[in-house]
Amino acid sequence: MSRVYNFSAGPAVLPEEVLKEAADEMLDYRGTGMSVMEMSHRSKAFEEIITTAEQDLRDLMGIPDNYKVLFLQGGASQQFAMIPMNLMKNRVADYIITGQWAKKAAKEAEKYGKVNRIASSEDKTFSYIPDCSDLPVSEDADYVYICENNTIYGTKFKELPNTKGKTLVADVSSCFLSEPVDVTKYGLIYGGVQKNIGPAGVVIVIIREDLITEDVLPGTPTMLTYKTHADAKSLYNTPPAYGIYICGKVFKWLKAQGGLEAMKERNEKKAKVLYDFLDQSRLFKGTVVPKDRSLMNVPFVTGNADLDAKFVKEAKEAGLENLKGHRTVGGMRASIYNAMPYEGVVALVDFMKKFEEENL
Ligand SMILES: *Cc1c(COP(=O)(O)O)cnc(C)c1O
Repeated sequence: MSRVYNFSAGPAVLPEEVLKEAADEMLDYRGTGMSVMEMSHRSKAFEEIITTAEQDLRDLMGIPDNYKVLFLQGGASQQFAMIPMNLMKNRVADYIITGQWAKKAAKEAEKYGKVNRIASSEDKTFSYIPDCSDLPVSEDADYVYICENNTIYGTKFKELPNTKGKTLVADVSSCFLSEPVDVTKYGLIYGGVQKNIGPAGVVIVIIREDLITEDVLPGTPTMLTYKTHADAKSLYNTPPAYGIYICGKVFKWLKAQGGLEAMKERNEKKAKVLYDFLDQSRLFKGTVVPKDRSLMNVPFVTGNADLDAKFVKEAKEAGLENLKGHRTVGGMRASIYNAMPYEGVVALVDFMKKFEEENL
């Protein structure tokens, strides 16, 4: 068996310990004589899996009691509709456009009400986060929406926007559990888990209780109403059971690493190796304004598309996989999520140094 360093943006690398544990439990989960894939979601064994997973997530993030944790399906993209359907009481929302995901979310919300794009960094290919300290937040906005870490462009909000008292909604798909967070600053936090937590098929929504109501837009399906899932503790229908089980293992793994403070330190140390190299390289160049750089997704270019392609190809041959940038931006992108070891980033930088010497 040989494993590569996988820099995929998502689905992405998972902790090897977690994969091994899951493999050990594959045929017989703790004396049940069956795999977690095969058991009833109403069984005692699964009930323990989902309640433990929720508690561990609450411990990791310090989620207050007045927030519900929901394990849903449909990916982050389904939340683009579910959020307005549930929260747009006045049918007005403000969106901050920092990349493709925020753009898509805003476009979807437009189906349900008035969307004000109160800030954008599209003028410079989303290479920075706009100043959000004094935005023209709409008087009647139901919420202000951000994509906190921009997976494609490699930017991250280092400071949350001043929403002037309005509810903050954040897509944290690609920075979920990468560092500590003050949950009380948000009304709703959500993310697809396939970037930094677990396998595709689970989306986690953390939502303040007062935002969970029956007063949703007319025609909202039962399955797309937060209250349905909150009331049923994410067991209204069959949940993505195996995915939740793996997420639970990752939460335990994160706790064993020392929690989110420790992850932040590790992630900063990892990202620094790469950014420091980029900042002095004569061949490679980071594409993001330094102050807004993501710890999770690091895009870079040589400035020559043929050379970029050569780099991606040769890196793959050296066991460094999935370094091709997003199809809409080109170049390269290294996603260095929680489960990417420090050694993986060092291996990447060593390879980049060698490539630079050979190709300059
Ligand atoms: C990947 C991604 C999405 C889309 O996730 P799906 O689960 O495929 O719908 C949305 N937002 C962000 C920030 C992402 O990185």
